[in-house]
Amino acid sequence: MEAHRPIEVLICGAGPSGLTLAIDLARRGVSFRLIDKLAAPFAGSRGKGIQPRTQEVFEDLGVLDRIAAVGGHYPPQHEYRPDGSSFEARNFVAGPPTVREPYPAPLLVPQFRTEAVLRERLAEFGFAPEYGRELTGFEQDAEGVTVQVRGPHGIETIRCAYLVGGDGGRSFIRLALQIGFPGRTLGVRAIVADIRADGLTRDSWHEFNHGDLERQLSFCPLPHTDLFQLQAPIPLAGDVDLSPAGLQAFIDARLPGVRIVVRGVSWASAYSMSARLADRYRVRRVFLMGDAAHVHPPTGGQGLNTSVQDAYNLGWKLDAVLAGAPDTLLDTYEEERRPIAAAMLGLSTNLLDRAKQGDMRRGRDVLQLDLSYAASSLSLDLPVRHAGVKPGDRAPDATLRGAGGQPRRLFDLFQGPHWTLIGFGADPASLPAAGRRLHVHGIGSDGEFRDVEGHFGRIYSLSRGDLMLVRPDGYVGALAGAADAGRIADHLAGMGALGRGA
Ligand SMILES: Cc1cc2nc3c(=O)[nH]c(=O)nc-3n(C[C@H](O)[C@H](O)[C@H](O)COP(=O)(O)OP(=O)(O)OC[C@H]3O[C@@H](n4cnc5c(N)ncnc54)[C@H](O)[C@@H]3O)c2cc1C
Repeated sequence: MEAHRPIEVLICGAGPSGLTLAIDLARRGVSFRLIDKLAAPFAGSRGKGIQPRTQEVFEDLGVLDRIAAVGGHYPPQHEYRPDGSSFEARNFVAGPPTVREPYPAPLLVPQFRTEAVLRERLAEFGFAPEYGRELTGFEQDAEGVTVQVRGPHGIETIRCAYLVGGDGGRSFIRLALQIGFPGRTLGVRAIVADIRADGLTRDSWHEFNHGDLERQLSFCPLPHTDLFQLQAPIPLAGDVDLSPAGLQAFIDARLPGVRIVVRGVSWASAYSMSARLADRYRVRRVFLMGDAAHVHPPTGGQGLNTSVQDAYNLGWKLDAVLAGAPDTLLDTYEEERRPIAAAMLGLSTNLLDRAKQGDMRRGRDVLQLDLSYAASSLSLDLPVRHAGVKPGDRAPDATLRGAGGQPRRLFDLFQGPHWTLIGFGADPASLPAAGRRLHVHGIGSDGEFRDVEGHFGRIYSLSRGDLMLVRPDGYVGALAGAADAGRIADHLAGMGALGRGA
């Protein structure tokens, strides 16, 4: 039996949610370990759509360009008729980037590549997931959690202040906490496999027998690889042969007369779709995130994105409470994230129902740019605003000029683990002092930045003297007139973001 010194956070599961939380805690200087029962990183492509809001999160975490470099934009979708002719299906039309939304379209990145980039970023902070370590039990008391982990050298006991379960849809932690996971199975089972194949071009997402659930088959080229992601619904019961020969026979049976030759299979799985949401995301010192808290059909590409954003919501709150903020801040994690997952389950299940009718169109809601915490107890209740962005909304980007003349983006000011307070033509003396957890900027003729093109004032509907507070996760915390500066300062102090050591 091994024993190590206590850590602040143990993250169970090195999937997208666990890796995101690890990067966020690493950049905050929170002590943590990240364990996974797999012997080596997950090798499949399954969650391959990185939505615009997640791209913004990845920009903040310093990985977006790397993610974009190993991925690409979605290719046109070609649907084939029984006579072999095809047409281009325009299921989602992204607009051009705008000042407020710099990333308008999802990126296509196989999940194993996204995870590899996140691991690379984690390595830059000096950390790595510990593979071959399975969480097998835990107990919590008033001061912390004692966790049993089976690893290469036997059972290890780890003591931590908080345990976070990013341990996937079959979460051991959720089961151990006896948290209900109500929902339903959706009556759809599918194959997803990464194959090497001849007979398909790499410039299109090829869809055959569209709208026919018994014969449908699609091949999506995965950028910067020689792989296609094969997806196909299959009967609810019965064995499936996922070997190269088995998949070849499966394709030939569905596409007689079409010559596609399977050269290899790097990963394959057959799974039944369901939509379920955990009754609770927190039991005292233990949290659930990602698929451990919500599972859903892959339609609309929401799951990985929602998982990453769970972690991004939890990270700054764990850090703040470990630094002395009230424990109730951690209750806002479930308060904010569970309704988002509930809505996402509705969205992806609806899209699945429409896909069964052959309708694959996607709306703006899949982009996740309009998710809002407006109803959250963290959104400061100041005089109601009738125009522009509201507290709890995502803080849009804007272009500014530094007082020295150089262009700057508002997102540059948000980047990092801190809160951001902006005074719009406000008297600098009226603003709280900056610190490690709070960055303070002035925009205006006397400020360090100028709103030369007027984007900032227009997007946020601000008047001279107004203040805007942005949370560490890029959502607006408060918008207020100069008279409410004291309330903003109190709010920040309540989050541990002001004062000595902050
Ligand atoms: C076919 C398919 C297509 C999909 N397409 C999309 C898409 O286009 N877009 C999208 O956003 N999402 C998509 N998803 C969903 C996406 O893959 C998941 O939402 C995502 O992987 C969830 O991440 P996670 O970190 O919560 O969990 P996971 O990725 O499941 O990671 C959990 C980790 O925990 C580890 N673990 C489990 N138990 C223990 C234990 N006791 N001890 C230690 N480690 C443990 C596991 O080994 C695993 O590595 C798709 C899913 C499928 C199946």
